Amino acid sequence: MAYQPIWAQDTSKLNKMELVKLQKDGLDVIRTIIEKYALEGYDSIPEDDMNLFKWAGVYQQKPKDGHFMMRVRINSGVLSSAQARAIAGIAEDYGRNLIDVTTRQAIQFHWLTVESLPDIFKRLEEVGLYSYEACGDCPRTIVGNPLAGIDPDELMDTTALVNEVNDFFLMNKDFSNLPRKYKMSISSNVYNSAHAEINCLGFTPAVKVIDGEEVLGFHAWVGGGLSAKPHLAKQLDLFVRPEEVLKVATGVTVIFRDFGYREKRHHARLKFLVADWGPEKFLEKLIELIGPMPTRGDEKVAGWTAAYFDGVHPQKQEGYSYIGLNVPVGRLNAEELRELARISDQYGQGTIRTTMSQNIILSDIPNDRVDDVLQETVLQRLTPFPKRFMSRTVSCTGNEFCNLAIVETKERARRVAEYLDANVDLDEEVRIHFIGCPNACGQKQIADIGLQGTLVKTPDGPVDAFDIAVGGILGPGAQFNTGLKGRVKGDDVGPVLAELIRFYKENRSPEETFH
Ligand code: SF4
Repeated sequence: MAYQPIWAQDTSKLNKMELVKLQKDGLDVIRTIIEKYALEGYDSIPEDDMNLFKWAGVYQQKPKDGHFMMRVRINSGVLSSAQARAIAGIAEDYGRNLIDVTTRQAIQFHWLTVESLPDIFKRLEEVGLYSYEACGDCPRTIVGNPLAGIDPDELMDTTALVNEVNDFFLMNKDFSNLPRKYKMSISSNVYNSAHAEINCLGFTPAVKVIDGEEVLGFHAWVGGGLSAKPHLAKQLDLFVRPEEVLKVATGVTVIFRDFGYREKRHHARLKFLVADWGPEKFLEKLIELIGPMPTRGDEKVAGWTAAYFDGVHPQKQEGYSYIGLNVPVGRLNAEELRELARISDQYGQGTIRTTMSQNIILSDIPNDRVDDVLQETVLQRLTPFPKRFMSRTVSCTGNEFCNLAIVETKERARRVAEYLDANVDLDEEVRIHFIGCPNACGQKQIADIGLQGTLVKTPDGPVDAFDIAVGGILGPGAQFNTGLKGRVKGDDVGPVLAELIRFYKENRSPEETFH
């Protein structure tokens, strides 16, 4: 009898998608796209294979009329100028000139046809980029510190580590059939720049004295995730040396693969297993798999800056600065990205960095060239000095392209930020996140003000509306935001938020922040 994975020994308890995955590995769809569907067209794609397109990083776009969106994974958000140019070229040739930066440092295209996919895969591969496994039930983009290597606030440069873990898992058929999506973060930034607590597995900076020597390493967190039932990850009693990060990541992923739940799709993420087992039992199983490990060291996460870097800041390297740009609601066009690539070549070292706040950083700018960069035309819209509310507004894709969306989000978020900047005077930042459905791609739960799309009945029929929650934060004292009573119609969001923020401003005590 052929080898059967543990979970396939009793298929009566598997959900429908699991049965599809047992028939065909998700990664095999990439070849089928190239050799068959790209030649025979959209109508030739059967439903089961269409569901596997996610392993190629490709989803059907609303309204399922033959167009697709594609996500491209970017390790830690670090892109070369050549990679940025390749992305710009693809957006121009196939994606109606739209480029979105996501809340996991990835890039998204829209409007692609199945015929265009082989050429896009090829053009990405030529510059070392992949859309493969950027979606699907597999290890996705590994998020990290976008400032890795130049960050005065990091314990160590994590670039090589993130690449090592990515290279091990990417296209690895031992891990291409997990119960559900699987998200990792690796960052050594002391301000938690990769949002460890909302990842399935997160590594944060820590220090431990071992054999009389101070060792820089990591703490490990497991079982975080958002969606309709958000969980904050739990820290394991574990100190991880840099050379052991891959071993720990492999062990945790094996546990998820072999013990994760496959009965109900909405109860399959690692967070549910961790919640049931608790961190102690989870650690016991991990040690059984990977061998003994040192216990927890000294915590080095000192706060949370929510992955915002706007403005001009000194790098670790003396004489150099990085410039954090605002990309309004994460959307830019091909010409803008190409310009950023040119600037990074002309003034910097050819590197562009994407952030989990949907923004972009230009790095390695000699201090005496910063003023020249600030004069560049493209920085007049993608400005390092954005208005207060525009600087902190995040949005998911919404019903412009997403089949799961209940309401429109991106354009509305942009308009609300503009309204608040025109009508509210405040001396601090307030992070506002919009999502179009409970899946929470826009990370509503960690926002100061989170808005989740829904519908309300009116005499004229259902209209877009939002539930509002306040007070989300990560880092020390992490908590998700709390829902307020009532719903707000989409058209009223700007004035209602203005009122809420004014109320806060008039009633806050000295030293109080919005959070
Ligand atoms: Fe789509 Fe919902 Fe995700 Fe927004 S949160 S992109 S609407 S799935």
